[in-house]
Amino acid sequence: MNLEKIMTDLEKKHPGEVEYLQAVREVLESIEEVYNENPQFESAGILERIVEPDRILTFKVPWVDDSGKVHVNLGYRIQFNGAIGPYKGGLRFHPSVNLSILKFLGFEQIFKNSLTTLPMGGGKGGSDFDPKGKSNGEIMRFCQAFMLELWKMIGPETDVPAGDIGVGGREIGYLFGMYKKLAQEHTGVLTGKGRNWGGSIMRPEATGFGAVYFAHEMLKTKGLDFKGKTVAISGFGNVAWGAVTKVNELGGKVVTISGPDGYIYDPEGISGSKIEYLLELRASNQDIVKPYSYEFPNAQFHQGKRPWEVKCDVALPCATQNELGLEDAKNLIKNGVICVAEGANMPSTPDAVNAFLDHKIMFGPGKAVNAGGVATSGLEMTQNSMKISWTAEEVDAKLHQIMTDIHGQCVKYGKQDDGFVNYVKGANIAGFLKVANAMLDQGVV
Ligand code: NDP
Repeated sequence: MNLEKIMTDLEKKHPGEVEYLQAVREVLESIEEVYNENPQFESAGILERIVEPDRILTFKVPWVDDSGKVHVNLGYRIQFNGAIGPYKGGLRFHPSVNLSILKFLGFEQIFKNSLTTLPMGGGKGGSDFDPKGKSNGEIMRFCQAFMLELWKMIGPETDVPAGDIGVGGREIGYLFGMYKKLAQEHTGVLTGKGRNWGGSIMRPEATGFGAVYFAHEMLKTKGLDFKGKTVAISGFGNVAWGAVTKVNELGGKVVTISGPDGYIYDPEGISGSKIEYLLELRASNQDIVKPYSYEFPNAQFHQGKRPWEVKCDVALPCATQNELGLEDAKNLIKNGVICVAEGANMPSTPDAVNAFLDHKIMFGPGKAVNAGGVATSGLEMTQNSMKISWTAEEVDAKLHQIMTDIHGQCVKYGKQDDGFVNYVKGANIAGFLKVANAMLDQGVV
């Protein structure tokens, strides 16, 4: 593999797509060895084909706000790789959304979905629409306008979107309603649906729960568990909420949550009714971080700062990409962190990841750690196809098993001679091999 040439060619073809190029480089670096050992990959042009999406749909989304003003946002769906199953990946509504961010997320999704052991290809989509401060009616009209274009490209056997940042149960409901009207079918075309119209129990909390199950497996390799551990978590969205809940259940103490404006440090731990309080604030579309410190005066709000300056045993970044940089990594290492597991997608910058690996800190990358979300979406697809619903216990047991299996695959391909597990390498190789072999079997298409 001539990595530098591949990257230079990609940079020429896709100038300025920083996040996408960063994600491709990270994967290629870790699979280089295994790629070179398999010359059939080179002759089938696997790398050149896997780094480019199968297709991208870009469309405008015109919608009318409550005052009658017309707005135009951009919508995207990227069908990245369908070698092992229908395209699968979330929709993100956030003003920062652009092609580079969605391509990075779609590329990562290929390997994440492969790791889950379920038959799902990689995709991603979304819009630069900002749901913050919008009324319920505005959200509904935007979702309907978005689906008016998207529905032509998706289907239960071709491409099954889900939620991501800014797209939760409410948005999936509005999107599904419009799809159903246009396609005249009630099928499992989206996941994250409501419980009484095809959704899987536990999907909302699955990503956070799965992330903690994975981190627990990491700790177990050192004979440790969450009991009595101090845990720093960033964000307080869907993923962070599930993670906070599960860490508490396993006996850990969560001392931070964060938002774009800063973080909360609560030395007494964020648990029980405090979580309920945060959920209420979130449901009312309000900022959650600052009000928490007014409600619970022993907690401190650190404006403009990130939680990684706090002393902790386990760090779970669960907010957004590139939210943990080199200085943050150095702080965590200095303060004795044992395990860092990424609930979000690519929250750690490449130099932060290298710092953890250089210091032999257990580091779990997002594509493995947060795969429980899409895995449970895969379980939702299965339930929809079979027209059945599993109980919470059944879904949780399957999720737990999948996370344990993913951890096992990372160890299989990432364990070094000195016993240290490089989870980044392990996840990338395990995810890549399955997709690359499927592409070989299916010819040049
Ligand atoms: P949400 O929108 O529910 O939550 C995101 C959280 O991060 C919010 O608390 C948000 O605060 C906060 N946040 C956003 N930007 C920043 C920032 N710059 N600094 C600090 N905090 C910030 O999204 P999810 O929880 O669904 O997703 C979080 C991450 O997990 C993303 O990377 C996503 O791709 C990934 N992921 C999600 C899955 C899922 O099932 N939902 C599955 C796999 C991965 P505020 O609300 O105040 O803006």
